[in-house]
Amino acid sequence: MKKWNTFSRKDFLKNSTLALTGLSMTKGLSQNMMSSDSTFQVLGGKLTYKNVRLETGFEYEEGEVIGTKTDLFLVEIENGKISKITPNQPHAKAIDAKGHLMLPSFRDMHIHLDKTFYGDKWQATRKRTNGVKGMITLEQKMLPELLKTSTQKAEKLIELLQSKGSNFARSHVNIEPTSKLQSLINLQKALENKKNTFGAELVAFPQHGVFYTDSVPFLKDAAQMDIDFIGGVDPYTIDGAIEKTIDFTVQLALDNNKGIDIHLHESGESGLKTVEYLIQKVNENPVLKGKTFISHCFVLGKLEKNKQEEVAEKLGASQIGIASTIPIGSLIMPIPTLYKYQVNVVTGNDSIVDHWNTYGTGSVLQKANLMAQLYGYNTEFLLSRSLKLATGNILPLNDQGQQQWPKIGDKANIAFVDASCSAEAVARVSPVTSLVFEGNVVY
Ligand SMILES: [Zn+2]
Repeated sequence: MKKWNTFSRKDFLKNSTLALTGLSMTKGLSQNMMSSDSTFQVLGGKLTYKNVRLETGFEYEEGEVIGTKTDLFLVEIENGKISKITPNQPHAKAIDAKGHLMLPSFRDMHIHLDKTFYGDKWQATRKRTNGVKGMITLEQKMLPELLKTSTQKAEKLIELLQSKGSNFARSHVNIEPTSKLQSLINLQKALENKKNTFGAELVAFPQHGVFYTDSVPFLKDAAQMDIDFIGGVDPYTIDGAIEKTIDFTVQLALDNNKGIDIHLHESGESGLKTVEYLIQKVNENPVLKGKTFISHCFVLGKLEKNKQEEVAEKLGASQIGIASTIPIGSLIMPIPTLYKYQVNVVTGNDSIVDHWNTYGTGSVLQKANLMAQLYGYNTEFLLSRSLKLATGNILPLNDQGQQQWPKIGDKANIAFVDASCSAEAVARVSPVTSLVFEGNVVY
């Protein structure tokens, strides 16, 4: 087995923060935020913000949350972490956050950074023929051309996500006989170029089936590279076998100490069988609990209410998460039921503009907004809770209104938003005005 890359991307992320803070300060400071008279400390990788709006509690009337209390603070960041939070000092020599709301930065937990038209000329999706297998044939034709510029396009896409407040993504990356390992290598280059400002975890994704095209040797090689999850797609439709494909996926994950994140679009009996079989395998191998995900899992939206509850309860108990783009239209996912059974629900843009879809905005805050609209999360309290879909389940206030983020020692992964509170940010999809990645100012 050839070792394709000699360093670990994550080690790089870990070690680079301190050394690079100074560097990012010189080129990256937000035009938006820097008032003309502000100066800032960079010694020892230190950043200080004044006029930072933080949520401090809920306002109640007859037991109902009717508003969110906030205050202004001075926030210090050192060595990539939040080091001090003190009452505001409007005249301090510090970066002026101008009263903008400080939120945990956003996380896009399902995207294909390796496979996009973004950054190139506009191209709508084409008429689909022969379902997912037809798309595989199309990809086999187009991938060699796409791969020529996939590093640059991935970097452009990362910049779009950053502009919408995300500094982390879980990206699926094609592993199949057409791309072999090239899509992964190209994406790793892009992530290496962005390592000071963006974090990622990768899913080795057999888009063309594990066995339908023989992706097995490439998946085995990829599993030994710097990836975090073994992926998959519609085992029954593509490979014609549920158990065989899931068994392979589970074994590969176990052998290499990875998680699992499979695409499942199938909505009929095969979809349900796949979900139930994966639940069974995870229960047999508890090490996979908490690191197994099903992306889309449309079948949940097609089940009767009782069955929905039953499957959601099992997913919660086996700690299998659901990555959903929050679909609208003919299929509505039972997201509230998933939350009811403590299923870890995450979201992502999936496609921004490519041969699969063209409607991605790059914003996961917009996904939280969509969820709030779809499921009637309209009150101050429920809107404020909806933010967790964008932040990967981190919320400034807990359900009782006690401050739980940021805490001293938290990684300085921060989005500043022009909003008065989380509820407003979700309802209005408020603009992101600055982003900080582990103490580095991204923009
Ligand atoms: Zn996908």
